Amino acid sequence: MRVCVIGTGYVGLVTGVCLSHIGHQVICVDNNEEKVQLMKSGQSPIYEPGLSDLMKSSMASGNLEFTSDLGVGVNHGDILFIAVGTPALPTGESDTRYVEAVARGIGEHLNDGYKVIVNKSTVPIGSGDWVRMIVLDGICERQAERQKVPVGAGAPMAMTPEVKASFDVVSNPEFLREGSAVYDTFNPDRIVLGSNNDKAIAMMKELYTPIVERQFAEDSDAPQVPVCVTDLSSAEMVKYASNAFLATKISFINEVANICDRVGADVTQVAAGIGLDSRIGSKFLQAGIGWGGSCFPKDVSALVHTADDYGYEAELLKATINVNDRQRVLTIEKLQKVLKILKGKTIGLLGLTFKPDTDDMRDAPSLIMIEQLNRLGARVKAYDPIVSQSGVSQGLSGVIVETDPERLADGCDALVLVTDWAKFRDLDYGKMAKLMNAPVMIDGRNFLDQKGLEAQGFQYVGMGR
Ligand code: NAD
Repeated sequence: MRVCVIGTGYVGLVTGVCLSHIGHQVICVDNNEEKVQLMKSGQSPIYEPGLSDLMKSSMASGNLEFTSDLGVGVNHGDILFIAVGTPALPTGESDTRYVEAVARGIGEHLNDGYKVIVNKSTVPIGSGDWVRMIVLDGICERQAERQKVPVGAGAPMAMTPEVKASFDVVSNPEFLREGSAVYDTFNPDRIVLGSNNDKAIAMMKELYTPIVERQFAEDSDAPQVPVCVTDLSSAEMVKYASNAFLATKISFINEVANICDRVGADVTQVAAGIGLDSRIGSKFLQAGIGWGGSCFPKDVSALVHTADDYGYEAELLKATINVNDRQRVLTIEKLQKVLKILKGKTIGLLGLTFKPDTDDMRDAPSLIMIEQLNRLGARVKAYDPIVSQSGVSQGLSGVIVETDPERLADGCDALVLVTDWAKFRDLDYGKMAKLMNAPVMIDGRNFLDQKGLEAQGFQYVGMGR
């Protein structure tokens, strides 16, 4: 099928590349010309395991192209994905200006054939109808421009029913995780499709058939991927409710960890015990410095905001956020407990990204820690397997980004494990301990081998242990 994906970030680029890999003809559009040139040269602007190779092979097969010209993409695609960012505004609500710009642009370029416009971006409840309205505005603006009729002076009335009926909007929320986005796209738990139109749903089902049938899955014998068909707003709500549930599960175990710290229990053992209950499950029960990244914080806040707009106070979700905010500074309190005064001390952060296997720094807990440690007069150094090598560190202030773990440890009064990169399990901690002023390790993810570190001379402090 002919597909256009607008926005080539973590979601859009992975979606475009994977859909082209399974045989669709995909054009990816981005308004960042620099990014488009980079992708045209066969390079991925983001770090995501497996993405670069798939991207190169799809380009070579002729199934994948890049452009900054929205008109080219809209004319090409029978299915048009909107996959631009929806960051949080200071008020907590979702900033939908990029979605609006794209929807208007689609309207301005829409041609005669039938199109399905897909909200892949995480958008507030009700956005399906809103996107439809903005696309229609775009069509009207184009007609007004052609007929030189001022917008608002009767242009919508001049629109033909044919044009009105030539597209439908589908909500198809994305559940991929950064760091395993390609794997998640080929091995999803479910595909959610929200629309009130059968034709649009049928086209989306056809698009996803190879994935539903597990033709590209790790286990091709696994049962078919469930396709959950809902109305538009329910699909939008599935996305927010899923992220809010996962964030709440983490805040829950962090709350339990804080009680464990006080009563002398070990939250890792407690989590193992409760995770064996099939009603609870073991995932998302790792206590630590809390959730961050580009999705959970903004999506939970947006849901609280939506509830507020409709006269409901989402008390549980507000508590989920409050517990997380407190958790992010808990490592600072643990440092104070061990080192007492932080002024004049050097603290080394192991990891900067919000989770391993990504270069994404959006709303990473490390950023709050850097800010707090600077405020308290400490010098902050950091080492991150990706950030230390990429240009991302250029935008960071208040932190010296080191190029290897030993340079990080040199002269530090304590280390804090911030991101659970797999390679941090196997560092030469004996050598690092010798380079430090005092070998202290605050394990913000309960990830490291406590006994092993203690044998190397470290004072080990975990979360809720
Ligand atoms: P991103 O910020 O990484 O990428 C957005 C891209 O859109 C950028 O390349 C930007 O240049 C481009 N863009 C902005 N305005 C444009 C325009 N007018 N025309 C063309 N391109 C434009 O965003 P992301 O992380 O991929 O997230 C996209 C959406 O998917 C968000 O709503 C997010 O909440 C949702 N989502 C993200 C994830 C994730 O893990 N990142 C997971 C699930 C859902």
